[in-house]
Amino acid sequence: RAKAAGRNRWTVFDASMRDAVRERVEIEVALRAAVAQEQLSIAYQPIVAMHSGRPAGAEALCRWQHPVRGWIGPNMFIAVAEDSNLISALGAWVLRESVQQLARWRADHVVDDDFWMSVNVSPRQLGDPAFAERLGATLRQAGVPAANLVLEITESVMVEGSGLTERVLMELRALGVRISVDDFGTGFSALGYLRRHPVTGVKIDRSFVNGLGTSAEDEEIVRAVVAMSSALHLTVVAEGVETPAQRDVLIALGVPLAQGWLWGRAVDPATFAATWADRVALSGAAPAD
Ligand code: C2E
Ligand code: MG
Ligand code: MG
Ligand code: MG
Repeated sequence: RAKAAGRNRWTVFDASMRDAVRERVEIEVALRAAVAQEQLSIAYQPIVAMHSGRPAGAEALCRWQHPVRGWIGPNMFIAVAEDSNLISALGAWVLRESVQQLARWRADHVVDDDFWMSVNVSPRQLGDPAFAERLGATLRQAGVPAANLVLEITESVMVEGSGLTERVLMELRALGVRISVDDFGTGFSALGYLRRHPVTGVKIDRSFVNGLGTSAEDEEIVRAVVAMSSALHLTVVAEGVETPAQRDVLIALGVPLAQGWLWGRAVDPATFAATWADRVALSGAAPAD
């Protein structure tokens, strides 16, 4: 009987494995076409200076409207792109598109001169020896200063990155591009990594922001990240801020910048401009003192 149950489990397991593999292959094939036909789009979420409620920057977040499956979120397709090397073409497109978007917003005075664009880059992109050179050309063509671009990398880049990756990061810094460690605290990086790598900022992961106002532990973790960042002269952005209580704790802890649904979700460029141009986000702004 145990054997039969075991066999049944395996049957179920095999079937779901097959489905998972088939789904992955399907996604890869469709994603290849989507990249080639530019069926992807980018949504922009404000990164807000909490003292004023104004956006200091925006994060470019990739979106895919699949003709049959509908909307597919990046958590599903970025991993497929990374495993299949599609990430190079996809990542290059996201960078070009978001830098050009920033150039248009600057020209139209939707944003001020200091406003920056944050773009996620995969470890694989940073292993391309020509990455910095091509990005430099993209910035020059768009007329966007390198300092107005922030690349968000994962902790794994610092932990597992090769000498080549290290050189690419150095070249990016030499260009003037800023580099922020995304989802900070969820990986395996230690203080030493931040010192050894040419990074300019960290983004505190949503999982630590979540408990602010209710969890003393999360508050202590954020306090420690702020102290460390100040010692290393790193900018700090908190991600995933959803409530005024979380915002108030962040302000009290000395975190100046944040991103989250409290101020706005990622939206298409026209909606972003309409919502944020020349406007203070009164709903999310901290009470004036
Ligand atoms: P991420 O870089 O950490 O981006 C933040 C994610 O948190 C986004 O999810 C955003 O929509 C979501 N978020 C923002 N505020 C809140 C909030 O208040 N509450 C909650 N619950 N979520 C919030 P999204 O757009 O689904 O992206 C997921 C991940 O996919 C990103 O995480 C990033 O790692 C990756 N990704 C997105 N676009 C790209 C891309 O162009 N290239 C690469 N390599 N990765 C990308
Ligand atoms: Mg990010
Ligand atoms: Mg993040
Ligand atoms: Mg995240």
